[in-house]
Amino acid sequence: MNKVSDDGESDDGLVTCEGHGEQPPSFVCVHLAESQPDAQSIGFNWNCEGGDLLANCDACEKHADAEGFLSDAFFEENFAVICRSSFIEMAAANDVTLEAITNAEPTATHDPSL
Ligand SMILES: [Zn+2]
Ligand SMILES: [Zn+2]
Repeated sequence: MNKVSDDGESDDGLVTCEGHGEQPPSFVCVHLAESQPDAQSIGFNWNCEGGDLLANCDACEKHADAEGFLSDAFFEENFAVICRSSFIEMAAANDVTLEAITNAEPTATHDPSL
């Protein structure tokens, strides 16, 4: 019987978070990533386009085009990967409910352990 080797690396695109373990990745602008949870809000503009959770601050939102999209170049320069649980905690600090997020996500990324 073939046993699939498991060297701890996941090839399903999960990120490993210090606080939350293996999680689906989500994306936030570096300003949000570096903001403190108890600091004054810098805006939390989020969506789940393409199945990935993504959020940016109000300043970054001004760089969006008429359809609300940020350019790839802007994205690459200004966004960081954080784990989904970290995203949800950040969202909660900005009055975005977990329910709103899970409703926006494709069901495949729902994490029953959350
Ligand atoms: Zn920003
Ligand atoms: Zn995390």
